[in-house]
Amino acid sequence: MRFDLDAVFVEHGCADSALATRVLRALPRDVPVTHVADARDASRPISTALDPFGAGKRRLVIARRKTPFLMPCPAGSSKFACCGYLVLTLASNCPMDCSYCFLQEYLADNPAFQVYANFAESFDELDRLSDSARGRSFRVGTGELADSLAFDSITEISRDLIEFFATRENLTLELKTKTDEIENLLAIDPRGRVLVSWTLSPDAVYRSSEHLTASPAARIAAARAVLDAGYRVAFHFDPLIAYPDAERDYIGLIDELLDTVPAKQISFISMGGLRMTPRLRGAARCRFPGDPMLCGEDVLAADGRFRTFTPLRLSLYRALAERFKKAGAEIPAYLCMEPASIHENVFGAVPPRPATIGERLART
Ligand code: SF4
Repeated sequence: MRFDLDAVFVEHGCADSALATRVLRALPRDVPVTHVADARDASRPISTALDPFGAGKRRLVIARRKTPFLMPCPAGSSKFACCGYLVLTLASNCPMDCSYCFLQEYLADNPAFQVYANFAESFDELDRLSDSARGRSFRVGTGELADSLAFDSITEISRDLIEFFATRENLTLELKTKTDEIENLLAIDPRGRVLVSWTLSPDAVYRSSEHLTASPAARIAAARAVLDAGYRVAFHFDPLIAYPDAERDYIGLIDELLDTVPAKQISFISMGGLRMTPRLRGAARCRFPGDPMLCGEDVLAADGRFRTFTPLRLSLYRALAERFKKAGAEIPAYLCMEPASIHENVFGAVPPRPATIGERLART
């Protein structure tokens, strides 16, 4: 197991689930396992810990999800040119610890790393989605409130998911990760229905801000390996951070990527500038006071988030888009949590409607 755990909690009624059986079998012997009546008892912040959010990441809770698994991306808003992403929540929180991660705010009151023993019930929701519009294509991802693969070596959920999606014509699964945990993927034929995406950052951001993640080089190597195994691949440059030398470093990173994964084999890219609500910015700076990536020039934008000064952000978006254009393939691209005006400014065209771009990304 790549990540350390301090404790595992199993909610009443989940002990006999396939998920609990797999996790408890793979767990190192020295990790204590406690059975609890209600997962909320184990999920509350540890008030005595110096860093309750960080401590929560080291407690794994196996519980039943009591609310729907499938929902529109929570970052979506009519103010932004959205990508039509649908989120499948099979876990909540992440054992890695990026200084800019929005989960520090989103899960502040519920920081334990939860995985849902009844995850197979999500397949009924997915079938209802698939049947509701046979002529449409949907892109569904598990990497919004958790990293899709961080604990896959012990949960093996990717196997169930890939086998399900491989037989659904109008559903595409996106597994989004900052790890190189791909062993389970290499053993299954995704039949073209599964996309694996990596968030990529230059070495300077990785070393300063992306604690416990795989290195950018390891992520790129993993992308090459899954591509060779029949998966589609995509890359997210998000958050894009405007530090001194950022443009040089991001272009160098793209050069490194294109040396290993040719442009014509990339399904799409996304970009999104660093953005933080005041509460998130406060929490991040408190947990990572020495991280220079959190201290760039930013302004409070109309959506209530601190964002990199617009000209700096635009200049970075344009430089990256230009580099991909030079690579000679028409790679679909979108901006995350940006208004249509910024999209037009970067790509010179009006963004497609969310449903349209969602379908395009699902099919590429
Ligand atoms: S890998 Fe993703 S989910 Fe995990 S801490 Fe980093 S930003 Fe958050």
